[in-house]
Amino acid sequence: MLLKAFRRLARAARPPSVAFVYSRRYQIELPAAVHDPQRGERILAFLDSAGLLDPTLVHAAEPVPFRHLRRVHTDDYLDSLNQSETLVRIVGLQLTDDALERILEAQRTMVGGTLAATRLALRAKGIAVNLGGGLHHAYADRGARFCVYNDVAAAIAELRARGDGSRILVVDLDLHDGDGTRSIFAADPTVHTFSIHNQTSAGVPAAEATAIELGFGVGDEAYLEAVRASLPPVIERFAPEIVFYLAGSDPAADDQIGDWKITPEAMLERDRFVLSAVREGARKLPLIVALAGGYGLNAWRYSARFLSTLLNRGRAVEPPSTEELLLVRYRSLARQLEEHELTGEPERDRDEDDWGLSAEDLAGALGGPRRSRRLLGFYSRQGLELTLERAGLLERARDLGFERPTLELDLDNPTGDTVRLYGDPSRRELLIESRLRVDRGALPGVALLRVEWLLLQNPRGHFTPERPPLPGQSHPGLGMLQDLIALFVLICDRLQLDGIVFVPSHFHIAAHGRKTTRFLSPVDEGLYRALEQALRPLPFAEAAAAVAAGRVVDTTTGQPVVWHPAPMVFPVSERLREQVTGEEYERLAAEEAARHAFTVRR
Ligand SMILES: [Zn+2]
Repeated sequence: MLLKAFRRLARAARPPSVAFVYSRRYQIELPAAVHDPQRGERILAFLDSAGLLDPTLVHAAEPVPFRHLRRVHTDDYLDSLNQSETLVRIVGLQLTDDALERILEAQRTMVGGTLAATRLALRAKGIAVNLGGGLHHAYADRGARFCVYNDVAAAIAELRARGDGSRILVVDLDLHDGDGTRSIFAADPTVHTFSIHNQTSAGVPAAEATAIELGFGVGDEAYLEAVRASLPPVIERFAPEIVFYLAGSDPAADDQIGDWKITPEAMLERDRFVLSAVREGARKLPLIVALAGGYGLNAWRYSARFLSTLLNRGRAVEPPSTEELLLVRYRSLARQLEEHELTGEPERDRDEDDWGLSAEDLAGALGGPRRSRRLLGFYSRQGLELTLERAGLLERARDLGFERPTLELDLDNPTGDTVRLYGDPSRRELLIESRLRVDRGALPGVALLRVEWLLLQNPRGHFTPERPPLPGQSHPGLGMLQDLIALFVLICDRLQLDGIVFVPSHFHIAAHGRKTTRFLSPVDEGLYRALEQALRPLPFAEAAAAVAAGRVVDTTTGQPVVWHPAPMVFPVSERLREQVTGEEYERLAAEEAARHAFTVRR
């Protein structure tokens, strides 16, 4: 008796069983697209860094066999996907056959992910999260808006094929109408599709469905009210036995596609409400979560916040900014890399070596030519390549279609060491080029990693009206600037440097790294803040063009502002951070900012 009560207590105290499903195959790099290929990986990295993730909870997704897709989609439609035109129309992007192939593979894997999550949730009567999926615009006979295969429909079809006739509720809170799923189950009274969205795409009549259109520009109150008023009655009446939840984060105010104004707090409140409606009280329904929509580099943070509550007894852990997370990831990666792996030197006995001076050291000390075969005297080519591989940068280059990224070190220049990453061994397509050196003269007593220049480009990318060329660009960017900065920070950690210093040749370069960098001098910082203030209302590319064209003028003198390249720093050590964020620095910067007023001439 006592034992029984104790067991019941133990069960109550245990957090709900939660499983995650993910695959590297979900990550597709697409030029000029706003989706973040690393969304799932960022979520996992965050949960892990917060100490919430038990690695045994993460399961790999595999691409599903076609027999699963044939249960949902017509053969004619599946055949038509063999033609690139069909796919180009669905994804809405002009892509190479290679890229299209990878999208098919990614979505087949996401279907596999939702199938796996369904199995896991049912087995444990718990919650399983697919860190992808939610491809709700895919109909039986056509795909739309980036959705090729309907993963939730395939998972339900699999349940039916196994003789599971449970009543199933699909709660779809992606910003967009779950039209494909509703259409697939239109005639099925055992599946209720519930969708709250901005606009109903198609008035498909369905046996069991809720489709609520809220229009555009929706705020917290209207949204939460709609969810609270409409979901519980459906659960009461329909009495589902299994629930799928498409927890799209595209209703968020800062979403790159969405047009609603939902705050992070309300997004979390929404997710918690759905969770309690299906998991609390007498109901402990198996719950399968798919990420669904969410665009831009912040999308992952909404899902991360929600998923942290599942692992932290209901309390949300606030995720760091995307930039901070990158550093956390790289630093944990760095801890796994042994020094000898990076230098290419055999492991040595440290104590013995500390007193030894190499011929190179002596040559350096005596002022003779110092010919190191290593980047900054530390990284061998192999060591750097290993770092880039483990950081996932080479894999991302491969995703962009550069099958054999090739690294080159050029260490013969007196002004610094140059690293180049080419797309292939013939070195025709340059992706990354950077010249680096250690700078001990910029600030007394401070050693900095000086980035003389940094080029990141996708030579196969195309400019679009939404992403026009920025001043000085001949190809679109590579989308890896933050990763490169994180790598530089690691170099600082390794070589005990205080931070990174670089001189932005254009306004847009200064603006890109802005969240994490400061001008070295408070006067330059103040001037830049005044400029930022004047340009705030403009879209990024327009602001950059206005500065380059001299259309920003000083309101007192009437003179155009000329971009004045000045050193910017990313502080890594505490002492440098104090120097560029301290009271004195702030006071001088604010004084300088107040001295200027700029305006943009049309
Ligand atoms: Zn959406």
